[in-house]
Amino acid sequence: MENIDYKELGLKIGLEIHRQIDTDKLFCRCRSTLTEDKPDFLIERILRPIISELGEKDIAAEYELSKGKFAVYEGHYSNTCELEIDESPPLGINKDALNAVLQISKMINAHILNVTEVMRKQVLDYSNTSGFQRTILIGMDGSVIINGDDIKIDTIILEEDAARKIDETENNVRYRLDRLGTSMIEIATAPDIKTPEQAKEVAGFLGMILKSTGKFKSGIGTIRQDINLSIKNGARIELKGVQDLRHIPKIIENEIERQLSLMKQGKKIEPGVRKINPDLTSTYLRPLPGASRIYPETDLPIILITNEQIDKIKIPELIKDKSERLESEYSLSNELANALIKENKSDLFQDYANKYKNLTHGLIAHILVEIPKEISAKFDINAYVDDKTFESIIESLNSGKISRNSIIDIILDFVKNKKLDLEKYAVIDTKDLEKEIVSVIEQNKGLPFGALMGIIMSKFKNKVDGKTASEIIKKYKTNEI
Ligand SMILES: [Zn+2]
Repeated sequence: MENIDYKELGLKIGLEIHRQIDTDKLFCRCRSTLTEDKPDFLIERILRPIISELGEKDIAAEYELSKGKFAVYEGHYSNTCELEIDESPPLGINKDALNAVLQISKMINAHILNVTEVMRKQVLDYSNTSGFQRTILIGMDGSVIINGDDIKIDTIILEEDAARKIDETENNVRYRLDRLGTSMIEIATAPDIKTPEQAKEVAGFLGMILKSTGKFKSGIGTIRQDINLSIKNGARIELKGVQDLRHIPKIIENEIERQLSLMKQGKKIEPGVRKINPDLTSTYLRPLPGASRIYPETDLPIILITNEQIDKIKIPELIKDKSERLESEYSLSNELANALIKENKSDLFQDYANKYKNLTHGLIAHILVEIPKEISAKFDINAYVDDKTFESIIESLNSGKISRNSIIDIILDFVKNKKLDLEKYAVIDTKDLEKEIVSVIEQNKGLPFGALMGIIMSKFKNKVDGKTASEIIKKYKTNEI
């Protein structure tokens, strides 16, 4: 695919990024946690065909219903109430979720709607018990500049996530209700993206913006990206459910290749929604949804967002800017700066770097993010260290009470015994060390310097500074000779 001229091909790509918000569900007060426990109850449902308000049949709806299956829903009282089984009306909107989406809208320079409304979007499979998903348009016409290119953001939406599909047999399809109703953002770009590589960059940049707020979930299943694409003389295709953004270029290249190959064979290319396979090719899923799918949610009031409210929203420092600042302000490597941000330790790092001036910034960062990782990998143990313990260790190191060579042992000891014992690792006082060295030299008359050094270092391990020990030995050895 390397020699393909995407411009010549008329390639147009748009992205839809969905990400769960790290808060409770959107229209009830249930927690948005997933569970693998045995369900507390099961519900069976059959959805019936819906004809749109204009009296037209939706071809996508017909396609789904032609499968003739019923649904089984698994529910848990810990994360599911009557709303998820469509037996009670929605409660008021989750304010934290709304604020997270308002903040993102402001960060991507979108026009925030002062008056907006909760809508019901018809759902054509069994993933919602009600047959619709609640969705709210919050922002429009935003944009981001990525490597000099202006990428327009058409819409920013707050919506409910769907139920989780567990399995499917010939007769039924099984869903779990834990995920249903989880607060989620949807960011849709205009079809401004021109190359497969740029699609990855845009997805990465938007992901970085979301992450900068600290208000979104991360990890498998919390983020889903859909790709819309078309080429000249081809058809519009929606590729559903990209989990890993590194796969985006290959997925797009495969779809272009598929359409070009069909064209060569003189075959017609069907527009539609396609599911991405593990090998990054795709399989036909269903037709593109028809247009008459959205109508107002009459159980909820209109949402008003005042300009005063919008003005009050603070914009956080972007991760990208923070990483550059840590590198230049504290002379950290790009790797360490990013690790601090990733581990959520950058504020702690800055606090310590400004407080404990005897230590290099690199050493502080190394202790915060790299040593625990090393210990976890080497000893197969969860090397979690709380902030208070980190500070005690760094403070003792700064004042010379402990040596940097004992940090790994100190932390390992702490994670194993859940207790921090700095006394055990306290560096020996120079006068005491001198006495010890004199006695070792007397007991080992005639041994060369290197051997004496070995005895001292193994006897006192990390409690002595090698340089100090070697200076003392040299002083007495010289006198002896
Ligand atoms: Zn609920």
